[in-house]
Amino acid sequence: MQLALLLQRTRFYRRNNEKSCYPTGSQFHGGNKLIPGPFTYHPPSSVAEAIAVLAAHGDEARPLAGGHSLIPMMKLRMATPEHLVDLGAIKELSGIRADGADLVIGATTTQAELIKSDLLAAKAPIIRETALQIADPQIRSKGTLGGNVANGDPGNDMPAVMQCLNARYVLHGKGGERIVAARDFYQGAYFTALQEGEILVAVRIPTPAAGHGSSYEKLKRKIGDYATAATAVILTVSGGKVASAAVTLTNVASTPLFAEEAGRLVIGSACDAATIKRAAEAAKAITDPATDGRGTAAYRREMAGVMTARALVKAFARAKTGA
Ligand code: FAD
Repeated sequence: MQLALLLQRTRFYRRNNEKSCYPTGSQFHGGNKLIPGPFTYHPPSSVAEAIAVLAAHGDEARPLAGGHSLIPMMKLRMATPEHLVDLGAIKELSGIRADGADLVIGATTTQAELIKSDLLAAKAPIIRETALQIADPQIRSKGTLGGNVANGDPGNDMPAVMQCLNARYVLHGKGGERIVAARDFYQGAYFTALQEGEILVAVRIPTPAAGHGSSYEKLKRKIGDYATAATAVILTVSGGKVASAAVTLTNVASTPLFAEEAGRLVIGSACDAATIKRAAEAAKAITDPATDGRGTAAYRREMAGVMTARALVKAFARAKTGA
């Protein structure tokens, strides 16, 4: 189902898309389905330069980050950009820092760098916990946060986590800067609020309250797999009761889901079994998973509830113990 949606929806998909001639410039030629089609490679050294190249080539150009989603799609001819704009050499796009009340993560910061960051481990440990559940160390050493959240694949793990953290995406394009909330960014499988020629430059995360508890619970068939269902939870506890809570879901609909009602239901509770059950049911109710190799729609919906219950219990325990 996910593949079918991608085939229908990706703007770059072309039927019979082998090119009869190759673009000029620095070229790569693909002769079969194991190698991407031909493209011109552009390595800009600034965001302004990258935006200019993207603007010059319109929908034939695409940003390239770690390449771990885009290159496989190019090999399968599900994406056939004629120009790849490699963001890797743009220094201003990388790094993790605190900026006032926000944590700011540059778009090309790799998943491995997220795992290594002491700042994130101290202030928003759910990012490290989630990054450790993405793929494997080799992929994480190249795959970026920006690529993971801009990709629009409902199977990517970071979008739901960014929604849980109420992050904002900083986008730059010909028209200047725009900021879009992660909760408003995802419109459908592979459809996001990114406009043609725009680059995600950074993710801004309101620093979670000290002493909060969080958890990312992901059910997968094996190490390195995308989620059958996954849930992110961030909550705070005051006087033994939940004071605030956010719950979001991965890969149980065509977009990540903000399970607002599930979060609301646990506020004021001590996460007793009955409340957890109600919250898990509320999370399940907003899912619309596909039947695919990871299970039937009914099974995946059920697992969304199970992951939600586990994540709530773990986040509550962590908030209480400060773990
Ligand atoms: P790329 O592949 O370079 O780009 C992805 C898309 O985002 C492209 O359309 C590109 O144009 C666009 N893009 C990239 N950066 C920007 C930007 N700054 N601004 C605008 N557009 C941009 N991911 C998970 O979340 N969970 C998993 O369990 C998981 N398992 C995987 C297993 C395997 C075997 C593989 C190969 C990949 C897996 N991934 C998984 C995907 C991986 O995390 C990718 O790294 C990630 O989805 C994309 O990041 P990237 O930096 O590689 O982006």
